[in-house]
Amino acid sequence: MIKQFRYVRPPTLDEALARLGAPGAAAHAGGTDLLGCLRDGVSDVETVVSLTQIPALRGIRGTGSDLRIGPLTTLADVARHPLVREKYAALAQAAAAVGSPQLRNQGTLGGNLCQRPRCWYFRGDFACFRKGGDRCYAIGGEDQYHCVFGGTPCFFVHPPATATPPVALGGAGAVGGPACMVMRPTGVPASGRISGASRLPPS
Ligand SMILES: Cc1cc2nc3c(=O)[nH]c(=O)nc-3n(C[C@H](O)[C@H](O)[C@H](O)COP(=O)(O)OP(=O)(O)OC[C@H]3O[C@@H](n4cnc5c(N)ncnc54)[C@H](O)[C@@H]3O)c2cc1C
Ligand code: SF4
Repeated sequence: MIKQFRYVRPPTLDEALARLGAPGAAAHAGGTDLLGCLRDGVSDVETVVSLTQIPALRGIRGTGSDLRIGPLTTLADVARHPLVREKYAALAQAAAAVGSPQLRNQGTLGGNLCQRPRCWYFRGDFACFRKGGDRCYAIGGEDQYHCVFGGTPCFFVHPPATATPPVALGGAGAVGGPACMVMRPTGVPASGRISGASRLPPS
């Protein structure tokens, strides 16, 4: 059974940020990952802060040579947008490869980037490091798909498909500030880099 929580839908980014700054708050975009986490009791959420009433967080805009993608933009819209397909084909292809059409129509870019780890211990009833516990159950346990290098203390690999193209294109992500992803060409044909992958603070 899902634990009781409050649900708010602030109409502005400032109000959303203020709400998200409170303890026990979690952002809600498409809900395809969040609702599963709530159902499985993965994290102790007291307030779900819906971002869906903030139009400024949605859409893809070309500003000069930059491409700004709001975090509420659905993966389907990222995959089919002509500018993304033309300038950042890898990002369009990554978005198109996520899950199923239903998931891409409901899931957003911000939610994809900020989805919680898919580690079965994290999603299950195990109080590992990621859940405030004192050990990683993947060490000496079921470690398929976990990382070989780095990782300490958590060995899970961040899953979003849409995070890979910006990294592969030599991008550096910056967190904080206005909530959007900015794609900027480097001048190298068929290449680019992220000049700022900003998002709302993690829940
Ligand atoms: C059956 C299934 C198959 C899947 N297959 C794939 C796959 O092949 N590839 C892949 O990459 N992913 C896959 N996923 C994950 C899926 O892409 C994500 O569930 C989806 O993108 C999340 O988007 P959302 O808008 O629904 O996010 P939500 O569920 O609303 O949020 C997800 C998380 O991000 C946080 N969040 C949301 N928006 C923001 C924001 N703007 N700022 C800060 N935090 C935020 C929320 O608090 C929550 O913790 C799969 C999921 C399912 C259920
Ligand atoms: S890799 Fe270890 S610490 Fe990370 S989520 Fe899985 S069990 Fe938890």
